[in-house]
Amino acid sequence: MSTGGHKIKVVCRVRPFLGSEKPDHAVSVESGRVLRVTNPRDSTKDIRYNFDACYGSEAAQEAIYKNDVRPLVETVFSGMSATVFCYGVTGAGKTHTIQGTESAPGIIPRALEHIFKHKERDAVDYDIRVSYFEIYKEAVFDLLKPRDATGALPIREDGNRKIFVAGLSEKQVLSYEQFDQLYQRACGNRRTASTKLNHHSSRSHAILTVQVKWRDDVGEGRVWCGKLHLIDLAGSEDNRRTDNSGRDRMAESSAINRSLFVLGQVVEALNTGATRIPYRDSKMTRILQDSLGGECLGMMIVNVAPGEFFLQDTQNTLNFATRSREVVNKPVAHEVVEQRWTVADRLQHHRGASQPVRS
Ligand code: ADP
Ligand code: MG
Repeated sequence: MSTGGHKIKVVCRVRPFLGSEKPDHAVSVESGRVLRVTNPRDSTKDIRYNFDACYGSEAAQEAIYKNDVRPLVETVFSGMSATVFCYGVTGAGKTHTIQGTESAPGIIPRALEHIFKHKERDAVDYDIRVSYFEIYKEAVFDLLKPRDATGALPIREDGNRKIFVAGLSEKQVLSYEQFDQLYQRACGNRRTASTKLNHHSSRSHAILTVQVKWRDDVGEGRVWCGKLHLIDLAGSEDNRRTDNSGRDRMAESSAINRSLFVLGQVVEALNTGATRIPYRDSKMTRILQDSLGGECLGMMIVNVAPGEFFLQDTQNTLNFATRSREVVNKPVAHEVVEQRWTVADRLQHHRGASQPVRS
């Protein structure tokens, strides 16, 4: 499969407007690869951003899965590793994309269904194991166990210099239904832990790993192992502009900002063929080191909201995720309504209140 010369594909997804939002279309998909966003400095201009693929608000979960994710899931059955990240600010659609809902299942349920279908089809005895952990303030927590059962887990290096999370549980799953039960319970653990620690789950990275292992039935029976990591990243919002009062929030924000920054650097270094890849600079990239780079395939889904309310966050997200952009004239002149959002508006919005309607 070609990844367009990239080790890590970067694709963009614009979510639809929610019922409470004013449909002011600050962001639009120009083609299958180009996103157009209003230039915040000059509203007569747009900025065009190029991606490996671009999905508009009408894009179905199935389309993204089939076009971009399924080929990565397939590589697991060649004994390779693949990683999918969802990056974006809180409210941009990361969890919807990676997890989805009952009526619109996202990447995780689709990938697992695919893996179990593959298992039924092949006459191979695949051993499928799952682990699920979160990284909060650079500490690793097992989500397959109640938070009270274990504290933060250390990262170690084995005799072959392979990095692993010591004590992380790995559960064997025999069917999709068994996986789903385990996963739902783990999501419950994440919510409970979030509440206890007084932090919202959007402030941690959640990493689901599916390992598929089997033995060749030819020759001396070589053992193969493929891995798939599906990751819902912490919200990339600039916490200084929102609610980072107090020392705890500062520490939290700087840990999030730093780990996302390192991830961006790793993606950039891999895609430009740099010799030094800064894996060691954050816990997440250290843990994923063997699954990023080399022959491993990866994909970063950049989630953005469609409206003007998120425009500054959207610009920051896009500037993080793509190096290629250009300023162009707007195709049709239209009236621009000046909007000023106060910190209070933002806070209200992040707390889930409906967006104030401006005339
Ligand atoms: P995040 O995880 O980035 O904070 P969510 O996935 O929770 O964002 O999405 C924010 C809201 O938008 C949720 O109510 C979600 O259901 C909705 N949403 C996001 N993406 C889509 C989509 N593609 N189609 C329909 N609703 C979406
Ligand atoms: Mg989320």
